[in-house]
Amino acid sequence: MERILFRSTNGGKPPIDFKEAVLAGQAPDYGLYMPVSLPLISPAKIESFREMEYHQIALEVMKPFIAGIMEEEYLEHLVREAYDFKIPLEKVKANFYIMWLTGGPTASFKDFAARFMSGIIGYFAEKDGKNLTILAATSGDTGGAVASAFCGLKNVRVVVLFPEAGVTAMQRKQMTTLGRNVSAFSVRGEFDDCQALVKRAFNDRRLRFLNMTSANSINFGRLLPQSVYYFYGYSRAASRRVSFSVPSGNFGNLMGGVFARMMGLPVEKFIVGVNENDEFPAFMDTGKYNPVVPSRQCSSNAMNVGHPSNLARLVDVYRGWLCDERDGEGNVIKKGVLKVKPDMDMMRDDFVSFSITGKDVDDTMVRYWNMHRVLLEPHGAVAVCAADKHNSASAVISLETADPAKFPVKIRQLLAMEPELPVSLRGMDGKKEEYFSIGSGYEEFRENIIKQLS
Ligand SMILES: *Cc1c(COP(=O)(O)O)cnc(C)c1O
Repeated sequence: MERILFRSTNGGKPPIDFKEAVLAGQAPDYGLYMPVSLPLISPAKIESFREMEYHQIALEVMKPFIAGIMEEEYLEHLVREAYDFKIPLEKVKANFYIMWLTGGPTASFKDFAARFMSGIIGYFAEKDGKNLTILAATSGDTGGAVASAFCGLKNVRVVVLFPEAGVTAMQRKQMTTLGRNVSAFSVRGEFDDCQALVKRAFNDRRLRFLNMTSANSINFGRLLPQSVYYFYGYSRAASRRVSFSVPSGNFGNLMGGVFARMMGLPVEKFIVGVNENDEFPAFMDTGKYNPVVPSRQCSSNAMNVGHPSNLARLVDVYRGWLCDERDGEGNVIKKGVLKVKPDMDMMRDDFVSFSITGKDVDDTMVRYWNMHRVLLEPHGAVAVCAADKHNSASAVISLETADPAKFPVKIRQLLAMEPELPVSLRGMDGKKEEYFSIGSGYEEFRENIIKQLS
């Protein structure tokens, strides 16, 4: 089998392979890695997924990517261990399903990618006899999923940065109570400050010795495992005509679906639900792209993104070119410049997008509880509300990305009830927390990270 190669959305350099793309995270020209070509999965094979378990489908979808890089037996072992939890496709009403991607150890869909990434990065570190460092800025769920997935791994250190006031107590504890090879930094600032610290660290020669890799969704390694559950959802639905409704922030989840479709999955439409950060639906309407700066604060906090990092990939698929304008030092001077406009007609054929207000989110949560006894949380409710607005001709699978128990305050307020904690989230209260509290200045972060990791 031929190796699948990756090129940057920004252009020039010769293509690299899957391992190099995962370990690099972002391309040196600040572009994102895109597969030069994708393997095709035949309709007969896709039909056969109906009889397979999740981990078997994962193996089928992912194995062309690791050919020549990792033994297939290792991948088989990896996906069996990583996806050992339930993934229910709940039929809520005629032609409408909710797929619960919330059964992993941190009760967020980010477990799907984090557990795969830890498996392959642990493998690379051991095989090359190298120590690697995973660096992740988080607005909530990525940090916990990454910390949980990489905790205890040999040869790999994990550093997560979160905004002091921007995460819930439960999200913080998911990062700060593990210890071992996981270091957590609480930053007095916003998510953007955390992300800026991470970006500078990647470009800092003095930190080269740490062999750092990004665990944010700029990394292609996070998107591939997110393709798998689209194949799985399709295989479990009764209908052969299916659309997906995706609650979107940085569009990593959505890109997983787009790659699945490019590999042959017959998806009718992607319904892209966003919160009040409405840059994407506005772009679909007008063909003009204007990032929302600063991003708007909404109850679906993991989707408070005014300039989705994976939009550059989506535009690339439709033959456009989106990038940030930078000065000679690499600092962004203008976010989100459309150098080449994508084929908007084709995009409008494949996607519909809705911006869902906070009030619509609340109404949807109340309505689905009262009418269907389905307890949603704000992220999943954005997707469900968008699906209802679309009025699809095909069946719709709406993705639920977090367990409602992660949002007890909201649920108490709307429904006057206490969401039941999944087993994975129990017993957090008694655990001892450990983390560094730092300002948003880079030098303080650098000194601390060197002290910790040397
Ligand atoms: C990260 C996250 C999202 C958004 O996913 P993207 O890949 O960034 O679009 C949605 N819901 C939850 C609960 C998340 O943690």
